Amino acid sequence: VITILYNLWKIYKNENELINYSQQASQYAISKSRFLANMSHEIRTPLNSVIGFSEQLGQGSLTDQQAEQVNAIRSSSVMLLDVVNDILDFSKYETGKVSFDKINFIPFDSINEVFNSITIQASKKGIAFKNEISFKGNIGFSGDSLRLKQVVMNLLSNAIKFTDKGSVTLKADVVNISKKSALLKIQIIDTGIGIAAEDVDMIFDEFAQVYYSSTKIKQKGTGLGLAICKKIVEFQGGQIGVTSEIGKGSTFSFEIPYETSSVDS
Ligand code: ADP
Repeated sequence: VITILYNLWKIYKNENELINYSQQASQYAISKSRFLANMSHEIRTPLNSVIGFSEQLGQGSLTDQQAEQVNAIRSSSVMLLDVVNDILDFSKYETGKVSFDKINFIPFDSINEVFNSITIQASKKGIAFKNEISFKGNIGFSGDSLRLKQVVMNLLSNAIKFTDKGSVTLKADVVNISKKSALLKIQIIDTGIGIAAEDVDMIFDEFAQVYYSSTKIKQKGTGLGLAICKKIVEFQGGQIGVTSEIGKGSTFSFEIPYETSSVDS
C-alpha cells in the first residue's frame, strides 16, 4: 500500500511540475513576442527617418560616387524596414493583438489589383503570368480585403521569385455561395523549382527557408511571409496548404469563408 501511495504521489508531483513548466514556457513565448513587437516598433521610427533623409540627400547635387552610396543606404534601409515590418506583423498575430476589418469589398477587384500590380515582375523574368478568376465583379464580401490582398501578394511574389521558366497561374473560385456566406478558394500554381517532400511540412513555420545548394538561389527575406499568411488565413477560419514536386513546381492553395454582402446576377 505504501509503495502504491508513494507512486501515486510521485505521479501527482510530476504532473504538477509538467503543468508548471508548460505555463512557464507559454509565458516565455508571450514575453518573446512582446519583446519582438516592442523592439520592431521602436526600430521603425528611426529607420523611417534614415530612409527619408537619404531620399532628400539623393535629390541634391552629388558626385556619382556619393549618389551611389546614398542609394545603397536607402535600399539597405528599405530592406531592413521590410524585415522589421514582417517581424512586427508576425508578433502581432502571435500575441493575438489583431483585429480584422469587416468592410464590404469586391473580391474580383481586390484580386485583380494584386495581379496587375505584380505583372511587371513576371514579365521582367520572362515567364507567363495567367489570371483565371472564375467569377465576376457582381459578388461582394464583407471582410478584410487588405489582408486578403496581402496573402495573394505574398504567394504570387514567392511563385515568381522561385520560377525561372514556364508560368505562374492565379486561380480563384467562389463556392458554396448563398445569401449569407461563401467560400473563396485561391490557388497559385508555378512551374518553378519546387519544394522537397521533407521541407514541405516546415515551410509555413516562422523563419523557415529552404536551403537550395544546387540552384544557389540567394535567399532574401525573413522566412516569415508564409508564417504570416498562415496566421491571416487561419485567424479568419480558413486553411492554407501546398503541394509541390521538386524541379516541377508548387501549388499553394488557401480558402477563406466570407460573409456575402451582395450577390447580384
Ligand atoms: P521568404 O520571405 O524568405 O520568402 P516565405 O515564408 O515567404 O519566406 O517562404 C519560406 C520559404 O519557402 C522560402 O524561402 C522558400 O524556400 C520556400 N518557398 C516559398 N514559396 C515557394 C515557391 N513558390 N516555390 C519554391 N519554394 C518556395
